[in-house]
Amino acid sequence: METILLNPTSDPYAVDRAAGLLRAGEVVGMPTETVYGLAANALDPAAVGKIFAAKGRPQDNPLIVHIADAEALERICHDVPEGAKRLAAAFWPGPLTMVLPRAPHIPDIVTAGLPTVGVRLPAHPVARDLIRHAGVPVAAPSANLSGRPSTTTSAHVLADLGGRIPAILEGGPCEVGVESTIVSFAGALPRLLRPGGVSLEQLREVLGEVEIDRALREQLGDDVQVSAPGMKYRHYAPKAPVIVVCGAPEDTAAYISKHLTNETGVLCFTEFAYLFEMHEMRTMGTAADPLTQARRIFDALRQFDETDVHEIYTQCPADEGIGLAVANRLKKAAGFKVVNVV
Ligand code: AMP
Ligand code: MG
Repeated sequence: METILLNPTSDPYAVDRAAGLLRAGEVVGMPTETVYGLAANALDPAAVGKIFAAKGRPQDNPLIVHIADAEALERICHDVPEGAKRLAAAFWPGPLTMVLPRAPHIPDIVTAGLPTVGVRLPAHPVARDLIRHAGVPVAAPSANLSGRPSTTTSAHVLADLGGRIPAILEGGPCEVGVESTIVSFAGALPRLLRPGGVSLEQLREVLGEVEIDRALREQLGDDVQVSAPGMKYRHYAPKAPVIVVCGAPEDTAAYISKHLTNETGVLCFTEFAYLFEMHEMRTMGTAADPLTQARRIFDALRQFDETDVHEIYTQCPADEGIGLAVANRLKKAAGFKVVNVV
């Protein structure tokens, strides 16, 4: 199959054509403000099946349903609690997914058979245009091969899924760069399942108390060494193994310079680039700028695949604001191989 690139800036029918593919039961690469998604009609189980096939994604991993207008939430879910309504008012459209009791017509393949469904209203105008034109809610995970770093440009999507999907809709580089924050309302208290573009601090401002999922707490703990229990799969991973070095930026830069070999790649804060100029080095923005780090990390991880490095050392931001999401993705890319420099 040839994958075509549909560009709304040069083709006024690009969105119509992508929507037509969705209505015909096909999958389409879709830009969002977080990462590119691989979209299909969420109400068509055969279409959703093509997402899993194209990505090589395990079927027990549920998908997020994307809507274009907040009113559509009541058609996807029921018993939406007050807190979820407040979050929607505060952060939609935007990088926030809420897990809520699912409506009966949402197919099992979307939710992996769970009684809940993840819903998001994206901010990217091309994504919302596409969903409106398709006239259906759109299931979409990140548009990468399963296990690889997420895609933040159409070129990334083409590199992973070219030949496997009929079309990619161009929307420019993603503004946020890491996936949405996921909050579950399935329990007594709202619970953070995945840190993302909306920070834990922002969630707490609106909701008061927010629990942190146990899996995430273990990832955040200082005692995490080689692998946290239950973490079966590598995620977001480039080909070479990644080692995350946590601590004060000066200390982690010093640690990495001491442990480097000729075959080591380095992902560092911009102000430490001078230390690693003789190596395959990529920068992610300054230590004080986690918004830029979020925008750059997946592209940087992908770039190491074009080199012959045998391992990649990376610095890691503090667990604050969107830095929590950046640190989470880096640790997952490393399969939780984390060094704490104190
Ligand atoms: P991706 O789109 O690749 O970022 O993956 C979507 C993620 O959303 C999955 O890995 C799940 O962890 C999460 N998710 C989606 N729906 C649910 C749900 N009903 N309950 C819990 N997590 C969900
Ligand atoms: Mg993903």
